[in-house]
Amino acid sequence: MHVYRGHLLHISGSPTASTAHLSLVSEPNGALVVDTHGKIVFSGEFTEVPAECASATVTDFRPGFLLPGFVDAHVHFPQVFTTDAYGGGELLNWLDRCVFPAEARFSDPDFAREAARAFCAARVAAGTTAALVFGSAFPVAQDALFEETQRIGLRMVSGRGVQTRGPKSASALITDDATAEKLCRKEIEKWHCADAPGRFDEAMLQVALVPRFALSVTPTTFHWMGVLYQEWRDRGLYFHTHLSENDAPGVGEIDSVIRDFDIPDYLSAYDGRFLPGGASGAESLLGRRTIFAHAVHCSAEELNRIAATRSSIAHCPTSQLFLGSGTMPWMQIAARGITIALGSDVGAGDEWLISRVANDCFKVHMSTKAPDATALDPAALLFSATLAGARALDMESLFGNLDSGKDADFIVVDPALWPPLERSLSGVTDVSGLVFSLLMSMREPAIARVFVRGAVVST
Ligand SMILES: [Zn+2]
Repeated sequence: MHVYRGHLLHISGSPTASTAHLSLVSEPNGALVVDTHGKIVFSGEFTEVPAECASATVTDFRPGFLLPGFVDAHVHFPQVFTTDAYGGGELLNWLDRCVFPAEARFSDPDFAREAARAFCAARVAAGTTAALVFGSAFPVAQDALFEETQRIGLRMVSGRGVQTRGPKSASALITDDATAEKLCRKEIEKWHCADAPGRFDEAMLQVALVPRFALSVTPTTFHWMGVLYQEWRDRGLYFHTHLSENDAPGVGEIDSVIRDFDIPDYLSAYDGRFLPGGASGAESLLGRRTIFAHAVHCSAEELNRIAATRSSIAHCPTSQLFLGSGTMPWMQIAARGITIALGSDVGAGDEWLISRVANDCFKVHMSTKAPDATALDPAALLFSATLAGARALDMESLFGNLDSGKDADFIVVDPALWPPLERSLSGVTDVSGLVFSLLMSMREPAIARVFVRGAVVST
C-alpha cells in the first residue's frame, strides 16, 4: 500500500460533459491509497484514510495537485517530428508536402526506434497516460512503438496506418490490399492484448484497424477490413480513422470522398455502404470501440448514426486551427449523447499537452457563431481531457478518474515548477475557477510525476 497526498481534482462517477460540474471533486487535503496491484483503494480526505492503511508509505505532493492522467484520443506516431511543418495550405496540401515524405522515413529501423523513444518521452512529459495512436505504415516502426510503450509502462491503442492508394508523395506508404490485410492481421495477432492475452477489458496494449482516411483506401480495402473487424470486434479490436475534416469545395477531403466512392455522405464509407449509391459492400466498422477524429462537418444523419452505434469522436481543435478545418459543432454532437474526447492530432496539432488542447477547445467554441457558441464549463473541459477519453476507448471502468476501484493512473501537477501557473492560481477563489486556471495555464514543466497503474512512468 502507498498513500499519495495532494489536492485531488477529478470528475467522479460517470457523468456527461454537460453534467460534469455536478461530479467535480476538489479535495485540497486529499489522499489516494494505492494497493500493490496499482488499484486505488481509497480516494478522499486524508484524515479519513482507513486505519488499516496506517503503516503504508506516505508520499506528500502537497501543495501539488493530483489529476487523472490525460487521455489523447488522436495522435500520430509517425508525425512525432512533424509538428509546425509548413505545408502552404489546408489538409491535402499539407499531407502531400509535409506528412507523406516525413512518414516514409519510418521504414528505417534505427530511425523508427529513435522516433518511438521520442514519441513516448513526449507523452510522459505531457502526462498522457493513455492514447489512441495513429500508427506508421511500417511494421518495424509499429514494433518499435509497442515495445517502447510497454517498456516504460504507458497505455496505448494503436494500429498501422493503412494506405492502398494515394498520390505519388505517399508511394512509400502504399501497399496492395493483400499485403495490407496480411500486415494488419500480423499486427493484431502480435500486439492486441500482448500484455494480458484475451483480456481486452484491462490490457495496456491494444490494436486498432486504422485506414488513414477514405481517400487512402479502396472498396476492396473496406471489404477485407469489414471481415477482419467482424472477426475481432468481440475480442476488443478498435477502429480508428479520420472523418469529415476538410470541406474545401470541390477539391477538399469531403467532396473528394463522396465523388470517388459515389456515396451519399462521408460516413457511409466506414459504415459498410461504400459501393456506388451507398450500396452495402461489407460489415460496418462503427461501434463502441470506434473513434473518429475530427467530425467537423458531419450532417445530422451522420451524427445520428455515430450516436446510434455508440461510436465516439476525438475532437482536435488545435489541429483544426492549424489546418483551417473549421470548428466541430460541439452543441449538436453533445446533444446526441456522443462522447467527445480530446485529441492532440500531433503533428497537425502542435501541442502534446491535452490541457493545451482543452485551452483551444474553450476558445474555439467561444468564438464560433450562434447557435453553436458556448462557454464550456471548466468541469466539462476536465471531463473531456480525462474521463471522456477513457469512455471513448471503452475503458471507463479502468481509468479516467480517481475513484476508488480504478487503476491509479494519475499525474502530479506542481505549480511551483511553472511560475505562470502559480501566478494564475494565486488569484483564484472558487473551485470552477481553479480548474479553469489550472487547465488553461499549465504547461509540461508543471507535471512533476506520472503514474500508470500505480507505477511511476519515466523514460
Ligand atoms: Zn489526424
